[in-house]
Amino acid sequence: MREILHPTPIRPARKPSGPVVIWNLIRRCNLTCKHCYTTSADIDFPGELTTAEIFSVMDDLKTFKVPVLILSGGEPLLHPDIFAISKRAKDMGFYVALSSNGTLINKQNIKEIAEIDYQYIGISLDGMEQTHDLFRKKQGSFAESVKGIKLCRDHNIKAGIRFTLTQDNVDDFPAMLKLMDEQDIDKFYLSHLNYGGRGNKNRKDDAAFQMTRNVMKQLFEACLKWEKQGVEREIVTGNNDADAVYFLHWVRKNFPHQARHIQTKLEQWGGNASGVNVANIDNLGNVHPDTFWWHYHLGNVKERPFSEIWQDISDPLMTGLKQSPRPLKGRCQTCAHQKICNGNTRVRAQQVYDDAWAEDPGCYLTPEEIKHNCRDT
Ligand code: SF4
Repeated sequence: MREILHPTPIRPARKPSGPVVIWNLIRRCNLTCKHCYTTSADIDFPGELTTAEIFSVMDDLKTFKVPVLILSGGEPLLHPDIFAISKRAKDMGFYVALSSNGTLINKQNIKEIAEIDYQYIGISLDGMEQTHDLFRKKQGSFAESVKGIKLCRDHNIKAGIRFTLTQDNVDDFPAMLKLMDEQDIDKFYLSHLNYGGRGNKNRKDDAAFQMTRNVMKQLFEACLKWEKQGVEREIVTGNNDADAVYFLHWVRKNFPHQARHIQTKLEQWGGNASGVNVANIDNLGNVHPDTFWWHYHLGNVKERPFSEIWQDISDPLMTGLKQSPRPLKGRCQTCAHQKICNGNTRVRAQQVYDDAWAEDPGCYLTPEEIKHNCRDT
């Protein structure tokens, strides 16, 4: 959106030094959300990495030039050594973010949290109060999470909302955008429902394509409004790389003179990066191409360093994910926007068609919208 209003010159695309690692340190969680990909519970899970093992993996990640660690769970604040782990990661120079449900951030621990100096804390909200508490199966959890966000904000910690869109919470979306203004929240992350973990059993609840399109339009408009107002706010969407293509169509309609420029920038961004610039380590040390591939193991950091596992392309899934272009089929294969989207979310294809290279069933674009890019017209 900033590139529409204040375009910057096209420069060679920058390659990240290593993958962003999303690290589920612990599976234990104090909540049992409907869409949770880890199917967590408030119990100890056996076989999790010890803190000493976590530290030695961290050393390997640093040598491998991993720039970012996103510490997640379960609920990472339930890890008994979360602050020691976070502090060490910060001291080593990682960009460190925390993905939390926010309910355990309170007046007692906020100082300690602030001292870590996390670059970002993402707090999940599944809608406004009633919807959220129903999803989280706990009354009062919305209030606790919002309190967590406020506490972060009051202690100068960048914090934001993580929202997973479904048919059950789509009606709350406008109110969520309002909440961003009311609470002056730094960041909004909209995640599309994916089919891993508990999400898999709720596949039929996925917001219909038309709803997704409406929500995306609202998000673009809110983002444009904030950008015009000069409000510093970060808007990110995840788990559906067709969003970038849909955005390009929105630009074509509303800012046609900028469409080519935006197309080039989006192509430089490059779309889906699972297995390339995004990696996941689970609580047991298993490595996955991203957080939604928990049923697919590339190796375990207790047995082999992450750096080795990640570069090993003898695994057929990793061979395909690292290939450019990827060996896509169906409409993804013939899509004019492959460079922007990179075939989207392969786990959805695998779960629906039993073929990781089939077209992504979560693509909400019409056949017309995937026919031409700006250079064709
Ligand atoms: S058809 Fe496939 S590659 Fe094209 S936008 Fe949709 S998901 Fe992406």
